[in-house]
Amino acid sequence: MAYQALYRVWRSQRFDDVVGQEAITKTLKNAIKQKKTSHAYLFTGPRGTGKTSAAKIFAKAINCPNSVDGEPCNECEMCRSITEGRQEDVIEIDAASNNGVEEIRFIRDRANYAPTTAEYKVYIIDEVHMLSTGAFNALLKTLEEPKEHVIFILATTEPHKIPATIISRTQRFDFKRISVQAIVGRMQHILEASNQTYEEQALSVIARAAEGGMRDALSILDQAISFSDETITLADALAVTGSLTTEMMDAFISACLEQNVSAALEVLENILAEGKEARRLTEDLLLYCRDLLMYQQAPQLLNERANLTDTFKELAEKTAADRFYWMIKILSETQNEIRFTNHANVYLEVATVKLAAPPTNTAPAVSSGSGEADGTPVDNEDIVELKRQIVQLQTEVKQLKDRPAAPGKADEPKARAPKKTSSAYRIPTERVYQVLSEATKDHLQGIRGVWEDLLMALPVTQRALLKASEPVAAGPSLLLLAFDYEIVCQRADGNEELRTNMQNSLGLMIKDYSPEFVFITRESWPRLRQSYVSQHKDMKPEVSDAEDEGEIELIPEENQVVEQAKSLFGDLVTIQED
Ligand SMILES: [Zn+2]
Repeated sequence: MAYQALYRVWRSQRFDDVVGQEAITKTLKNAIKQKKTSHAYLFTGPRGTGKTSAAKIFAKAINCPNSVDGEPCNECEMCRSITEGRQEDVIEIDAASNNGVEEIRFIRDRANYAPTTAEYKVYIIDEVHMLSTGAFNALLKTLEEPKEHVIFILATTEPHKIPATIISRTQRFDFKRISVQAIVGRMQHILEASNQTYEEQALSVIARAAEGGMRDALSILDQAISFSDETITLADALAVTGSLTTEMMDAFISACLEQNVSAALEVLENILAEGKEARRLTEDLLLYCRDLLMYQQAPQLLNERANLTDTFKELAEKTAADRFYWMIKILSETQNEIRFTNHANVYLEVATVKLAAPPTNTAPAVSSGSGEADGTPVDNEDIVELKRQIVQLQTEVKQLKDRPAAPGKADEPKARAPKKTSSAYRIPTERVYQVLSEATKDHLQGIRGVWEDLLMALPVTQRALLKASEPVAAGPSLLLLAFDYEIVCQRADGNEELRTNMQNSLGLMIKDYSPEFVFITRESWPRLRQSYVSQHKDMKPEVSDAEDEGEIELIPEENQVVEQAKSLFGDLVTIQED
């Protein structure tokens, strides 16, 4: 039998199995038991919280001849036909794909006829907010003339997009995000029933990543199972989940602290494109900054937390506490602003620009000490000085907080020149030269041709790592990959699983091709390429020292060299006309 996703196999079939929505399921069961059901329901709530499962259970329970205590028996022909989706009196419609007036008119006409085999005709309209205005009007007409044996269940993640006239004619139930504890409990139940061993901590990591959605939790669990050897370990769970959130968060906050507005906005865009909800993201960023501050002040409190990355620790150690307090303030203001707006993303973009601001009267300096950059070791005196400054800043911040008025008063610490928080990724120059010595245009083109497919073949979190990267040179045994962000480059470099997965997938896409990977930052690429070319004077290219746009300029008469360079770097080479 083909593999079935966990969330399908373990879809709730009884109200008592719907996790984390006890108040709702109890109310529905009682209504069925006492035959006091409404003719229209509106189920709202985040994705994966049990809305459509509850709707189907409702359809079964109300039609099941053996129903006990408002629960369906799941054994009789009626229950089975509904579970399998072949009961003609229970009609499921996905408004996302059927948003037309015609469909709703059709429903309206059919709703006039009594159910044929079931006692109640039940229409389940999923993603109902996707209906067109015309379709809403047609639906409204139907709801205005309720038929005795017809029940509508409308489900949506976005209730604010539904006309008030519709909402007022339904009985509304708001499904909550499911607590981490409840999700863990359900996963434990499933894993024990399937004789799958696991580490307890792995489950909380997965549950947290699912952000209150059971369906997402089970999808991630599926991934973790296929990723793990036998036991699902904490490391497996982190590999499958952690990264997406943690790496992106690391990248975002790093870009802000580097005062690189465009990089920060780009990371933000990537995170939102991954489907992260803006309000949720703001909350996560707020918690992340709080954790940074906590780690800085009392590392022992956070050390047990599983997902502290090196970048996180580095940011906590290098950044002035004052800057963190200030970022937390901006984020909590943003959280208030976006509570009731439909333009949450815009507010978040504005907040990003603020967060990446250089030090001013109101924005504190980023760096707190003098030891920094380029891998220069920090000596003890620096650390002592740093600690002294932190204590001083803490006192000052406390004074500022006690005095609720404007921040940035006379005794505020002086703003220092912006200092870059640098991570210490060491460019493997020799390896880069090796790649360049064997690189051909054909190899590069071959890889670019399958790059998108390769990304899709990787687990979502590894894909996220590679999103802001690009193959820039390739040969028969080596592939050079340039990353937009240094810290992502560093993360990817330390990720053996990623290398293995990439190698395996590439081998499937390009026959017998499994190169080793060399990772660099995009920033370093023009310089590396240039120094390689100038070190290989036997090729005799006259290389100008123009660094902008990373383009190598070649004197046109050296035709052979041009061809060589072209075959090496592909279309990235531009030829300067004199
Ligand atoms: Zn039944």
